[in-house]
Amino acid sequence: MSSKKRKDRPKKRKFSGNRYTRFCSINVEHDNDDGIDVLVEAEVTEKSASRSKLGTPSNTAETNTDNIEGYRFIDAELFISFLCKFPCKKCLEEGGLKVSEYRVGLASKFTVTCNRCPGPKPFKTVFYSSTKVGSENGGQGRCFDINKRLPMAMFAIGRNYAQAKRLTANLNMPPPQSLSCWQKHAKSLHSATRNVAESSMQKAADEIRVGSMSNVTVSCDGSWQRRGFSSKNGVATVLTVPVCGKSSKVIDTQTLSNYCSACHIMKNKLSEPEFQIWTKTHECEKNHTGSAGAMEPSGMLSIFRCSRTTRKLAYSGYLGDGDSKSYSAVANAYPPIYSRPCVAIKKLECCGHVQKRIYRRLTDKVSEYKHKTFVENGKTFKGIGGAGRLTQKAILRIQGHYGAAIRGNPGDVKAMEKAIWAIWKHRSRDHTDCGDWCPSKSGKGGDANKNALPEFVCTAIKPVFKILSSEDLLQKCAHGGTQNTNESFHNLIWERSPKVTFVGRRRLETAVADATIVYNDGESARVAICETMGLKHGSHLTGGFSKIDKKRVDNAHVSGKSAVIKARRARSNVSAAQKDDSTYEAGRF
Ligand SMILES: [Zn+2]
Ligand SMILES: [Zn+2]
Ligand SMILES: [Zn+2]
Repeated sequence: MSSKKRKDRPKKRKFSGNRYTRFCSINVEHDNDDGIDVLVEAEVTEKSASRSKLGTPSNTAETNTDNIEGYRFIDAELFISFLCKFPCKKCLEEGGLKVSEYRVGLASKFTVTCNRCPGPKPFKTVFYSSTKVGSENGGQGRCFDINKRLPMAMFAIGRNYAQAKRLTANLNMPPPQSLSCWQKHAKSLHSATRNVAESSMQKAADEIRVGSMSNVTVSCDGSWQRRGFSSKNGVATVLTVPVCGKSSKVIDTQTLSNYCSACHIMKNKLSEPEFQIWTKTHECEKNHTGSAGAMEPSGMLSIFRCSRTTRKLAYSGYLGDGDSKSYSAVANAYPPIYSRPCVAIKKLECCGHVQKRIYRRLTDKVSEYKHKTFVENGKTFKGIGGAGRLTQKAILRIQGHYGAAIRGNPGDVKAMEKAIWAIWKHRSRDHTDCGDWCPSKSGKGGDANKNALPEFVCTAIKPVFKILSSEDLLQKCAHGGTQNTNESFHNLIWERSPKVTFVGRRRLETAVADATIVYNDGESARVAICETMGLKHGSHLTGGFSKIDKKRVDNAHVSGKSAVIKARRARSNVSAAQKDDSTYEAGRF
């Protein structure tokens, strides 16, 4: 688009340097708001300070030639007219060159021939728009790099073959390779991504293992592609519980599918004996029989069964949902999962889920006493809710403090219990066990009894504190972890394979493996996928990946700032309140 315009306009070239001046290839062309091209030529003298500001490498010669790599979108017409300007190498005549194209997917082979050359053997030279790379089974240079890269790029943004066709059409590019060629590359991507993910998970397991074999607490959860039981695909995931500031990592995943589209098509096409013969060589996508609801338990079971052999870990602490069917599947498995030496699998609670219970129970108390009248200091009150008593805001504050009491004392059940009771005592004007959050301890002054509740309210809610500070319950929260880690990992998976698009198991497995690599080691770790696939990883790829990582770290830093935390808490309080009005039942036990 811009190239034509520039032809009509004389280029402004002014040389203002001296003999020590070298040209940097920082001819920055950019469209300004009027759509007019601006050609900026920067001439930088060696040792100039502005070079570092411009971020160009110090070796300018390299910038000009050696470092030009990677792909560009090139208009074939412009490219061909450029080539035809050259004189023929053989007959030295100008204007006799002809270019023909042979295309395989996004890769093109341009053959330049001369039609002025005398004799039977005219001048001929070939140009490939993409290098050839080896196939995964060691084949030499059979596939074009760009055709192998396209599925990787599309999968990374959660898109498939159909969208690749739309992308190329919109860009006025030829269509991608045939579906069968795409599938071949998708298969090699599948195994490469899974290999890299496997070693990443192994590394994560090595980090938490003590000695040659150890018992660890893991956070387990499942996710379906579609909501509820109609889903054909599901994932069971096991993550480490973050301790002492270490982040959680994925240590095992299992992808399950109860559907295979190839089987479905062939079953209708072939007779039963023919179908039987066909299945012998067919790599089926289906690896689960039964309902979608049974996917998570069955996936979890197979993960737990292999944990000692593959990860050299026994998952003795199971951190999962309150009503987890998967927990019963692994805890009551026959034969027992960990025999010789025998290890029981203990159910632990997600601190976030437990925290929700106090909200639910206190709300229940308010409705329980709705019609009861109380008399205090000569005044009559109806119920324990309402202004000056247990408002929704007060309940949310108690919920927050309750969560902090659990999470702030990992591994120390006694301290948790004391901190929980301190919340109740604080509300009944006893500040002996209060923490820094109380005005009586913070030293900033203020009324410590500002949020105190009438005695009859405190008495009414005391049983809730009793139940939710029981040793049995707190023991299950002693790890201090939540299941949020699983949720954010699942988000990464469904970003790579959106829930709205049905895919086969292998495609989903690629997404799970890719998400694992990024969750554990960051986007930059995906370079290993290229290496495994025999693809060159240039500076644009590595540079782009580290920029993505940097952005993620920056965002995490920002979201950790107190103002952002406050805003987020306010948001989640609102949504908790909204959920409470509907049929949201999590936390009711
Ligand atoms: Zn010629
Ligand atoms: Zn099949
Ligand atoms: Zn206090």
